[in-house]
Amino acid sequence: MHDYLIVGSGLFASVFAHEAKKQGKSVLVLERRNHIGGNVYCEEKEGIRIHKYGAHIFHTDYKDVWDYVNQFVDFNNYVNSPIANYNGELYNLPFNMNTFSKMWGVATPAEAAAIIDEQRKVITGKPKNLEEQAISLVGTDIYTKLIKGYTEKQWGRSCVDLPAFIIQRLPVRYTFDNNYFNDRYQGIPIGGYNKLVNALLDGIEVRLGVDYNLQRKEYQEIAETVVYTGAIDAYFDYCLGPLEYRSLRFETERMEEENHQGVAVMNYTDWETPYTRSIEHKHFDFGKQSVTYVTKEYPADWKPGDEAYYPVNDDKNQKLYARYAELAKKEKNVIFGGRLAEYKYYDMDDVIKRALDVSRDIFRR
Ligand code: UDP
Repeated sequence: MHDYLIVGSGLFASVFAHEAKKQGKSVLVLERRNHIGGNVYCEEKEGIRIHKYGAHIFHTDYKDVWDYVNQFVDFNNYVNSPIANYNGELYNLPFNMNTFSKMWGVATPAEAAAIIDEQRKVITGKPKNLEEQAISLVGTDIYTKLIKGYTEKQWGRSCVDLPAFIIQRLPVRYTFDNNYFNDRYQGIPIGGYNKLVNALLDGIEVRLGVDYNLQRKEYQEIAETVVYTGAIDAYFDYCLGPLEYRSLRFETERMEEENHQGVAVMNYTDWETPYTRSIEHKHFDFGKQSVTYVTKEYPADWKPGDEAYYPVNDDKNQKLYARYAELAKKEKNVIFGGRLAEYKYYDMDDVIKRALDVSRDIFRR
């Protein structure tokens, strides 16, 4: 008998498990995959850590979250400055003076603002969808070359059918600043994300290759409380119908060269290139190896059984999620947390913060 059975071993699960153990609770972790860490897990090849489930760049504005993770691992000074590749034309991201200068040959913020102001006039009133939001932020040229193709590939639907908030994640700056994030703290764990997760789960029993949803009977009596971080619709056996997700397919290539693309993250923003991103992993760690590994990221439709990466937070899915959340509230002694269980487009820092908040609430009592 344990105090907590934790389903999953991503960041929500690992932080909660760590906090519970710190309180003297006995904890058992079940993980469906053959490794811990959820999607932050990295696989090391020839000294290069490959972000197996998509690139993860840690960034946060929360000092408490930054201090928390720094107890377990140091972070390097990697700053994400991706390059957009539109049919071979290269632009700096996020949208900033370097982007505007390349796009229009402008040299000053006032010149850039004048062009954007002119182009955004086509949108009147409050933006109703991602397309309107994007044009009202950066105008039609940038929308067409750097947003539309990328977004429609990633989400598998038209920008007029997507919620505006997705694009609000991206900064727009009238300075020459290529830092993708506005947050105060940023970096990649020195020694990798696995080191962070291993430290969080240190001394905690983990059973790999166990799919809780399939083996629930076996584990019914094993703990007082279940912390479930898998997909919420799967927990309820899709009884209200499946929630939609976007999935990803990765193709990784080993290359006999030191530096293939000169940047960790290149976004392919045209519609013709079938992948959205190309990741050269070594640049996250400033690697100097004589070989390199590059992963192409292909967006993919999702069906139950596939890896679920992004929740599709449109109206239809949010309403369905709300109905699952009602069911979740009625489940006695089960805590639902994390990207899949809360059906939320969480960044790493937000999910850590959430796990800390939930555990503080519980252990304060
Ligand atoms: N986006 C875009 N062009 C880019 C990069 C991002 O239009 O080159 C938009 C796109 O709609 C995407 C959103 O910004 O869904 C959020 O991108 P982010 O890089 O934050 O996505 P993540 O890293 O979470 O996959």
